[in-house]
Amino acid sequence: LTTRLGSVFDRLKRRGALSESDVGEALREIRVALLEADVALPVVRDFIEKVREKAVGQEVVRSVTPGQMVVKIVHDHLVEMLGTASVEINLEAAAPVVVLMVGLQGSGKTTTTGKIALRLKTRERKRVLMASLDVARPAAQRQLAVLGEQASVPTLPIVTGEPPLAIARRALQTARLEGYDVLMLDTAGRLHIDQALMAEVAAVRDATKPTETLLVVDAMTGQDAVNVGKSFAEQIGITGIVLTRVDGDARGGAALSMRAVTGQPIKLIGTGEKLDAIEPFHPERIAGRILGMGDVVSLVERATETIEKDEAERLAAKVQKGEFDLDDLLSQLRQLKKMGGMSGLMGLLPGVGKIKKQMAEANIDESALKKQEAIILSMTRGERKKPEVIKASRKQRIASGSGCSVQDVNRLLKQYDQMRTMMKQVSKLGAKGMMRGGMP
Ligand code: GDP
Ligand code: MG
Repeated sequence: LTTRLGSVFDRLKRRGALSESDVGEALREIRVALLEADVALPVVRDFIEKVREKAVGQEVVRSVTPGQMVVKIVHDHLVEMLGTASVEINLEAAAPVVVLMVGLQGSGKTTTTGKIALRLKTRERKRVLMASLDVARPAAQRQLAVLGEQASVPTLPIVTGEPPLAIARRALQTARLEGYDVLMLDTAGRLHIDQALMAEVAAVRDATKPTETLLVVDAMTGQDAVNVGKSFAEQIGITGIVLTRVDGDARGGAALSMRAVTGQPIKLIGTGEKLDAIEPFHPERIAGRILGMGDVVSLVERATETIEKDEAERLAAKVQKGEFDLDDLLSQLRQLKKMGGMSGLMGLLPGVGKIKKQMAEANIDESALKKQEAIILSMTRGERKKPEVIKASRKQRIASGSGCSVQDVNRLLKQYDQMRTMMKQVSKLGAKGMMRGGMP
């Protein structure tokens, strides 16, 4: 996908504000990316339209192309949609706080119940009781008991033949009597939404008044997400989402679908079968994964922060004319310092392995930047413009002025030479775009 977007960027010319056609072209690619990430179709449509409204007419930030700008806007909107901060389980209620786990069969409810119980026990020092209300599958209650043993979290003793609502009531009573902080109720699921399931869960909800009702959703959920999310949100009322199997191949489109359809935050993600494989949700990570273009986004961010358009253009022109002098090197060094070193920036640009290697050969490393800056600052204006005039006696003066050795001064001048040569090559390679933060 990044390569496909790359070609779009290449075709887009630099302009002041994003036009409808700039945005339209980039959004066609974004639409495909979202569908490939398995975001539900109605959510994709809605998302695209919102971004279109936001993007058209927006000023292109200095030093990036319109296509990159659109990606950035898309990314920011996506992160905003996904929720900007990670939200933990809400335990602000009188004990025992009831956490009700709901979702389709096989979504990971039972496993996630165990994971959350362990997490609350170890991180929040809570006394947690778990109970399985899943009487539909013979081994389901036993499965939770086994997880409880592994996590050293108690489970409600199993009474064969007891219906779900009765188990829920008994669990609540036990939790109260025995002074538990949290009661986690694992419910049965069905392969598809059905009314019997909804009625059962609703009855449990009414009997136990949960503080949290977490919808557990497999990250692989595709177009089904809308139906599942809507049904549970409308008929049960959920307070959060747990996305499971984020360790798998799924691109995570379900995160966007679920968030858009239910309006509830994604609180945690499951990242494996083990009991400790659960993590807070980070919108940026999932956004990058959904779009599959995290590198472009961080490139645009850095470019936006640091590279001044005019400066970059001035430099690009100078490099082309072969007029790159030591003042330019100085301003480059300062840019580099701001950007966290050349390796940081270069690493983000696709297809620059070769240039990066040359950079390394030219010995441009971050720790040396300060020294180099000091050396240039000890030169006169004339020397900076015409480095050829710097002979032995001048070198001596510059060295003592900057607190360096003559060898250091020589090294800098040599580097400057190498850099000038390299930049000429780079500009032949079409790196004018690179200097502006564009795609080379
Ligand atoms: P339930 O029917 O909703 O209770 O689902 P289960 O908790 O029984 O999980 C079904 C299967 O999915 C089990 O084999 C779990 O080990 C597995 N599973 C659950 N969560 C995750 C996860 O985050 N990652 C992976 N890889 N597997 C998971
Ligand atoms: Mg289960």
